[in-house]
Amino acid sequence: MNIIRPFDPWRSKLCTCPTKYSFCPYTGCSHRCVYCYATAYIPNFYNIRVKKQLESRLVRDVRKLPVNALISIANSSDPYPPEEMTLRLTRKALSILANAPVRVLIITKGTTIVRDIDILKRMRVAVAFSISTIDERLAKKLEPGAPTPEERFKAIKQLADEGIPTILRIDPIFWKLTDGEIDEILTIAKSANVVHIVASTFKPRPDGWNRIKNVLPGWAKTVEHYYLKGETYQRTYYLPSAIRYELMRRVYDKAISLGFTFATCREGFTELHTGGSCDGSHLIPTVHPTSLFAKMG
Ligand code: SF4
Repeated sequence: MNIIRPFDPWRSKLCTCPTKYSFCPYTGCSHRCVYCYATAYIPNFYNIRVKKQLESRLVRDVRKLPVNALISIANSSDPYPPEEMTLRLTRKALSILANAPVRVLIITKGTTIVRDIDILKRMRVAVAFSISTIDERLAKKLEPGAPTPEERFKAIKQLADEGIPTILRIDPIFWKLTDGEIDEILTIAKSANVVHIVASTFKPRPDGWNRIKNVLPGWAKTVEHYYLKGETYQRTYYLPSAIRYELMRRVYDKAISLGFTFATCREGFTELHTGGSCDGSHLIPTVHPTSLFAKMG
């Protein structure tokens, strides 16, 4: 089975991603975010497993990709879970990809990524960190296995200071819970030298909604009516579009005032998008054909 696969964004009509491939060194994720949507389609998700024969399969698959192919690492299982510190699967994968004529977008909450700055500096890469809240107590409830928001911002700044383009995903935003933090999150992102902002509202599937109800029963009761009366795409609950638009517009206004480029994720409001891509991949340099010839010669 291929280890690099075409990115399949749930075939959602709201997805605005460019054509890309998806690669996950791990199956499952021990960050254990209660809102994670991957639990809906990967069994036993919070128990992490390693991909077997990762290196040989990656070498085989990457050879089949077109020059400048965009590989997203990873869309369903974070490439920097705590286990990566000892297992080093992602580091091995990056060492292979650094020598291939491809572009890589890393999406993570894992601060172990700073260990790999030496490889990242040799790659065509951008790094997106996800933050849902800067309230440390709330983060502990929502993302119990992930590094704290403060640790994540510190890692973002380290990467940016090394010249690696960085993206902040404010994802997910919980209406009437975390949307009051938007301005402060963006201000911190500015001081961490983030370039591009991606924002997305919380869109639960039924299993994620049940977990949230357990962890935040009071908040869930307040907003449940809006989710259940909102819109549903591919068994995913969305807030009504007027509420989502108002939230995205608030992030957009502040982001633009601070000089970021901005996009939404699976919201459908492309009129709010600035910059060359929604996911931040426009920040990744492309391979110039002449550099390939030079290598071959
Ligand atoms: S870090 Fe990402 S993949 Fe891991 S549990 Fe959280 S949302 Fe899911």
